[in-house]
Amino acid sequence: MAKFVYRFSEGNKDLKDLLGGKGANLAEMNKIGLPVPPGFTITTEACRAYMRRGLVPPELRVEVTTAMRRMEDEMGRQLGNFHDPLLLSVRSGAKFSMPGMMDTVLNVGLNDASVQGLAEFSGDLRFAWDSYRRLIQMFGKTVLGIDGGLFAGALEEKKKEVRAESDVDLSADDLKDLVAEFKRIVRDQTGEDFPQHPRQQLDMAIEAVFDSWNTERARLYRRRERIPNDLGTAVNVQAMVFGNLGETSGTGVAFTRDPSTGHSGVYGDYLPNAQGEDVVAGIRNTLTLAELETLDAKSYDELMQAMRRLETHYRDLCDIEFTIERGKLWLLQTRVGKRTAGAAFRVATQLVDENLITMDEAISRVTGAQLSQLLFPQFDGQADRKLLTKAMGASPGAAVGEIVLDNAQALERSNAGANVILVRRETNPDDLQGMMVAAGVLTSRGGKTSHAAVVARGMGTTAVVGAEELDVEVAAQEVRVDGQVLRPGDVIALDGSTGEVFLGDVPVVDSPVMRYISAGLDAGLDGCETEAMRELVLAVDRILTHADRVRRMQVRANADTAEDGRRARERGAQGVGLCRTEHQFLGDRREYIEHLVLAEGEQAREAALAELLPLQRQDFVDLLEAMDGLPTTIRLIDPPLHEFLPDLTDLAVKVALARDKGEPAEREEKLLAAVHRMHEQNPMLGLRGVRLGLKVPGLFALQIRAIAEATVQLRQAGKDPRPEIMVPLVGSVRELQIVREEAEDILAEVGRAAGTVLDLPIGCMIELPRAALTAHRIAEEADFFSFGTNDLTQTTWGFSRDDVEGAFFADYLENGVLTISPFETLDADGVGALVVAGATGGRSTEPQLHLGVCGEHGGDPESIHFFHNAGLDYVSCSPFRVPIARLEAGRAAV
Ligand code: ADP
Ligand code: MG
Ligand code: MG
Repeated sequence: MAKFVYRFSEGNKDLKDLLGGKGANLAEMNKIGLPVPPGFTITTEACRAYMRRGLVPPELRVEVTTAMRRMEDEMGRQLGNFHDPLLLSVRSGAKFSMPGMMDTVLNVGLNDASVQGLAEFSGDLRFAWDSYRRLIQMFGKTVLGIDGGLFAGALEEKKKEVRAESDVDLSADDLKDLVAEFKRIVRDQTGEDFPQHPRQQLDMAIEAVFDSWNTERARLYRRRERIPNDLGTAVNVQAMVFGNLGETSGTGVAFTRDPSTGHSGVYGDYLPNAQGEDVVAGIRNTLTLAELETLDAKSYDELMQAMRRLETHYRDLCDIEFTIERGKLWLLQTRVGKRTAGAAFRVATQLVDENLITMDEAISRVTGAQLSQLLFPQFDGQADRKLLTKAMGASPGAAVGEIVLDNAQALERSNAGANVILVRRETNPDDLQGMMVAAGVLTSRGGKTSHAAVVARGMGTTAVVGAEELDVEVAAQEVRVDGQVLRPGDVIALDGSTGEVFLGDVPVVDSPVMRYISAGLDAGLDGCETEAMRELVLAVDRILTHADRVRRMQVRANADTAEDGRRARERGAQGVGLCRTEHQFLGDRREYIEHLVLAEGEQAREAALAELLPLQRQDFVDLLEAMDGLPTTIRLIDPPLHEFLPDLTDLAVKVALARDKGEPAEREEKLLAAVHRMHEQNPMLGLRGVRLGLKVPGLFALQIRAIAEATVQLRQAGKDPRPEIMVPLVGSVRELQIVREEAEDILAEVGRAAGTVLDLPIGCMIELPRAALTAHRIAEEADFFSFGTNDLTQTTWGFSRDDVEGAFFADYLENGVLTISPFETLDADGVGALVVAGATGGRSTEPQLHLGVCGEHGGDPESIHFFHNAGLDYVSCSPFRVPIARLEAGRAAV
């Protein structure tokens, strides 16, 4: 039988699957001797059993009793005892951190009798009643499902009545009244009294924490963060320690380094005489750690030691939650802390310099997604800007948008295509929807550890917090600042690094990291306004350089033009993995395709093709010149020809009009007939790729000749062009063989005429399941394969990408058929199996076969790791994603 309960002394940090992140790390801290209040963890397995059966497993109740009794014996106190009660916190904690998404109940075990005991033991009547009212409030909201606004409203009411500035000004008697009021609310709302029995409270709280796994907001968060829905949460049951025992007590949150900038040195917020979420809820303004030092030097020193200990132990930036009870420090939580993209790079290299980690580890501490955030533009410092206010930059970025004040406005305006900035006094988990669609978040309260800051950083959304000059009046639909009144719809701009808030639109420029990527280290450093920026550019350079050194896979770019090719090269591309030649037939060149389609007889067709030859040759000269010395894979024309012809309806209208007016429209009529003739029910599976090449004589030949002549021309100019000819949509070896024979003839002929040997690689795309499954045969005719994973995904799933994404992917994501669009991240189980089959099959015939991938997946981090493991030689992606692919290919290799 599964063991459902682990005491903290039984767990460790590697048991996150079973104990959740919080439980595993509580156990770890306990193990390394840090002061953690005693307790135990109910496993995620128990939660899954609960979800399956729809009720708490009876054996869990028994295990909880055993663990509770042990804890009571160790502490010499009993849950809810009348004289010296043991009180509990009941805390959620899943494998992956979901900040604030699930529930925690504090002060469990208090009732009408034990509140007296608590007062006696602590000698603090006010504290006892404050704890009791907190219990009823939290329990009422999270366990009994009562609208939290009712309690908050009653609290506000009481404060007004006795003219209290903040909740700490309420006296013991006030709080006692409030408890009575809260109990009345519970009775009114549920028809039952607030449960007085401590064990019943505990059992109900445990069940509520299990249930909190499946709240709407938790599901939404998981979908966004790609966390599976079936993991469940662990429940940590822990002895309470009290930060609300007067001025020598308090509670806080701290980071071992600054999580928003990566600046080395501790960072944190502390609130005296407070409990639980008071710090992050922004109900009172917090103190800094430096201020804590002047208040209580001893606890401060202990806290510093504990943080140093944790950094050494985890060898990474950690964040912690702590409480000081009458001068005694307790640690309530730690984890490897979330951080901004910039902080991730800086911290990784700092840790290398402090000899805590190696460079190999450093590259695994950052991600391609983080790098891509650093490439986003930032506000132009030279532009004319009107500063509204300056507060704390909590999550970097440059966001411009319309002010919205709640979820509904945020959704409405963003659905209408507007960029929005969510402006709130403070945020809480109910604001998640609005935060998700917003380009930026601005709050008037709270610090870098507030809910808004933590969640925005997690989502990579720009955030500025604690803008105290801002008066957010939701009722009046107004934001007042510095004598001005702003309203929903007014445009503001947020700089998440500096904390500046501007009125109106502000132009953006390349970030220093982007300048570094495209023009080198000096250019990157030149653009830096601050030392922190310089440190960041240097960190990115060190990490990318190391990734380049260790990666096995090469990174090429998809580039159709010389200009794209140059851009890709600047960013470190080692060649072109895909040049789509159809792009060269768009615009003015459409008419040549029309000539070709309308040509009657062989002569006319050859004449039409001859018109195209010089144009194509020049396209390739330009591209190959830009990519001089680097492999350049040119794909022969792929889409159905009718994609180049005018729209059927437009043509029909034209023809009808001409007929009406009795005007001649011979050409249009012919085109119309051709479009009709070529119309396909299902063009994606129709006459395209190699099929088209075999069907329309001379088309592929033209392109191959253009490639050959361009190569000759450049060689004669002393250059080193390296084209590779790629045939699309091959399903059978025979298709490739026919094209290859034709190509070799042309290459030989052009080469002979120029007195040179044109020994260009000829290969094909693997983008049909049949190609992957017969790869051993196809390899007989191919010098290389390039996996076209876009089409391979379409043909494997039988999805038409353009049709299905909007139609039902949302449902599929919701009901768990998909965890992410297979067009974004390679479906490893299905499409990936075909990639592996293709690679293995191809190399069984041709061990040296060169293997690559082109298409969106070539720039997707998770997919890149898959391709590395499948043994591919290179990935090809859009020029913009080249640095990301370089980093991820490096990470895959360590
Ligand atoms: P979350 O996952 O939302 O951070 P936690 O389980 O960490 O929720 O609980 C929220 C807060 O409750 C903590 O930050 C801490 O201040 C308080 N808390 C939790 N457990 C205890 C405890 N044993 N004693 C005192 N305060 C606690
Ligand atoms: Mg916490
Ligand atoms: Mg394709």
